[in-house]
Formats: sequence, C-alpha cells, structure tokens
Amino acid sequence: MRIGIAQIASETSTFNPVLTDMAAIRARGVARGQGVLQPADWADYIRGYLEVVGDEELVGITRAVADVGGSLTEEAMNTVLEWFTEDLRKALPLDGLLLSLHGAFAGVADSDVEGLVLQRAREIVGPDVIIGASMDLHANMTRRKVENADLIRGQHTHPHVDSQETGRRVAEMLAAALRGEARPVMSAVKMPMITPAETQLTYEYPMKELMAATRRQEEDERVLSSSIFAVQPWMDIPEMGWCSVVVTDGDRALADRLARELAEVAWRQRDDYIQPCPTHVEALDEAFSTDVRPVVISDLADLGGGGTGDSTWYLKELLARSPQEPCYLTMVDPESAWEMIEAGEGAEVTLMLGGKQDNIYSTPVEVTGVVQRVFPPSAGRALPQSMGPVAVLRVGNIYVVVSERKGWGHNPSIYSGAGLDPEMAKIFIAKSVVDWREGYKGVAKRFLLGEAPGLSPSNLRSLEWKNVPRPIFPLDDVVSWDSAQAPVYRSRSTSE
Ligand SMILES: [Zn+2]
Repeated sequence: MRIGIAQIASETSTFNPVLTDMAAIRARGVARGQGVLQPADWADYIRGYLEVVGDEELVGITRAVADVGGSLTEEAMNTVLEWFTEDLRKALPLDGLLLSLHGAFAGVADSDVEGLVLQRAREIVGPDVIIGASMDLHANMTRRKVENADLIRGQHTHPHVDSQETGRRVAEMLAAALRGEARPVMSAVKMPMITPAETQLTYEYPMKELMAATRRQEEDERVLSSSIFAVQPWMDIPEMGWCSVVVTDGDRALADRLARELAEVAWRQRDDYIQPCPTHVEALDEAFSTDVRPVVISDLADLGGGGTGDSTWYLKELLARSPQEPCYLTMVDPESAWEMIEAGEGAEVTLMLGGKQDNIYSTPVEVTGVVQRVFPPSAGRALPQSMGPVAVLRVGNIYVVVSERKGWGHNPSIYSGAGLDPEMAKIFIAKSVVDWREGYKGVAKRFLLGEAPGLSPSNLRSLEWKNVPRPIFPLDDVVSWDSAQAPVYRSRSTSE
C-alpha cells in the first residue's frame, strides 16, 4: 500500500486587508517530499495519520501552510498548486491520499483554495484512489470539496483539542477502505447560517448538544463519521455557511438522511449562538474593579482568525487609565519593532504604534516608553521565528510585545517568551476567542470577553457583506430553510 500525505492549510478572513503571500507561506516552513512526514508542532492531524498508517509505505507530498490572515494572493495560490501538482505526480502510483487541510483557506482568485487542492488531487490520482481529508471545525464546506473527496472529518472540539484524534479517525477510515472492509459514502447539507465564534464552545450549550447528536449518529455501526462544520464567520464568499457531513459504509440513503437530520439540529439552535457581548471598556472596568488577578481579556474583534493584530483600542484605553499593576498586550507593527531593535534595550522611544494594517477601525497611537527587551530573529529565542523581530515596550505599567507578524494569540507564552513574568500580570490581552480558554487555563483566574470595533466582531451585522448567499442568518431578518428540501452534496462514490 502506498499512501500519500500532504498538508495545505490556512484560515482566512476576507475582511483582513493583509493578504497572505509567499512570505507568509515560507514563514511557517515549506516541505516537499518526505519532509512532510516529520510533523511540525502544528501538524496534529499528521500525527494522527502516522498512528494508523505508520507501517504502510508513506509518501510525503507537499506542506504549504500559513498563519491565519487575509486572502491568499493569486501568485501564492498558483505557486502552491504548482508544487502540489508536481509533488503528487512524482508520488504516483498511490492507493490512498491523506490531506491535512483547514477548510477555510480563501484566495483572491478563488474563494475555496482547499477545494481546488482536492479537485486537483482527484484529477491527478484518478477515480480509484481513496482521498481522505481532515479539517478544522471552522471549515467552509463546498460542493467541490465533497465531490472530490471520499471522506472528510472535522474536529469535534472547540477549543480544538482533538486534532490528532481527527487525523487518526480519517486515517482509520481510509485504511479500512483500502483493505476492502468499508466503502465510504459521504453526504453533506449546507445551512444558510453563520454564527459568532465565542458562543461555539463544545462544552457548553448549544454546541455541546450538537456534538452529542454527532456521537449518537456514530453509534450506528453503519456510520463511519458524523461532523458539523461551523465555519469561521469572517469570510465574505459565495457558498458560505454551516454544513453537516456524514460518511456511511456504503449506504447513500442513510448518509443523506443523517446529514439532513444533523443540519436540522444545528438550524433549530441558531438563535442561541447570538449572545450580547461586553465592550472592551466594560471588560476593563470589570477587570480593574476586582481584586482577582490575573484576568485575561479576549480582544475578540482583532483575533487571530480574523484580525490584523494591530488594533489600538485596548492600548488607548489602558494608557488613559495608567494602571497600578502590570498589563500585557501585543501589537503587530513591523516598523515599530525594527525601530525599537535599532534603538536598543533601555532606550526611550516615541512611536506611532499600531493601527496601520487595520486602518479601517483603528488608528496609530503616539506613545513614549522604554525599550525593555529586544528579540531579533534567532534560533535561541523562546518565540516563534514566524513572528519576525520582536521588542517589548514599557509605558508605565503597560507592556506591549511588538512584533513584525502575529504570534500565539491564545497562549501566555507569547508574554513569557518575551521575558514578561505571567505571575506579575494584572491583565493579559489575548487575541483569541475560544482557544485562549485552553491556553490560559491554570494561569488566568478570570476570563472576560471585550468587543472593540474591529475586523472580526461578534456582531456580524456590523460588517459590510457583498458576496455571501442571501438571505443568511443572522444578517437577514427572515431566513426560511427546510432540511428536507435542502440540496445534498455527495461524494463521487466508488461503491455505486
Ligand atoms: Zn477553528
């Protein structure tokens, strides 16, 4: 048996004005050939694949991933597709292909980059090779993805803690199909809905109930996999919306029926995902009014999945309050990071900080402070190389980790890696809306949401939408939808 493995992934916000280019792809480390089989720290699906098919003849194909960002440039998309085409042709013949995707990777020239990858894969390997794909819970499922794969499974947790298991489950299905023990048949049903991310915790209602419904479907031995894709909401693209995906063992009618039933459960809960969200001012008021420390606040309108990381609303608000205890925040600002590195540790600098990439909702803020630490890119530092140069600015008790590119929005190691002691903090600002609950577990004593104006708001109606299919919940007041009448996307099936 020869099984190919490729990883092509990013999570796009089409509202983010900073396009994802070749530099962003190279920053995360490209691999071509067998290098793909050495999982990098984010390649949890691939770890799951290797658990199952470690003894088979594995063939590495292409790894091209980028941090969350704006749409992929046409040039970068064409380059990645050329690599993938060349590497996959070289890997032939194959019996199976495992694709580690995200599912919400959109390009300037094509809003469904990973659908294009699946289509290209199918064209190259032909109809008889089984293609399995693992994707993020926030994937946007498309007809092209479903029709060119044999089986797709998504994460079942948010915060995402089951990526390795998701990879393992996909590889197990693929291996069973290759041994002739299963005949995967996949059906998918889209819903005209998008929802904010912060209400999608899988350990709380309503998502908890929805995930229980997938597990009940999987108790039927004819069902290989049941997934829900709650698409990341900041993508203004056609074919946008939630989707259910069910894979059965050779039973098309059952796959269709269960995909409709699961979609119906999600649709009925739609109003429950819309909850009022405190403003950043209210969140800071609450944090400063309590003796509890440290408090972590999600700057959710500028988070990793949708924002540029250079919103200045929290910075302005903290400067106005002159806090008595240390408050930590981050700022993406390449010019300022270089200026501070050139000035050197201990120098006093005056900067126009932040508000440059998101120049729609934020404006730069003039600050004068002391360069506390500098971290040029180097092998020894505890911060990811993909952040580029990093420097820490101290303004009274406000500490700003300034970097060329985004770093870990969900994890306090972005602060400890920059030499700031998490024990000292009164407030951390996190650029994450759900995964921070996992990352700051055991560090922060209180978790608050605070929505400032920004590119990834909870209030989806505040954005200007042009391309999503209308009507769609919650952008339109009246959206009628009937699961029994909804079109079903179906995998091309080798069993029919
Ligand atoms: Zn996700």
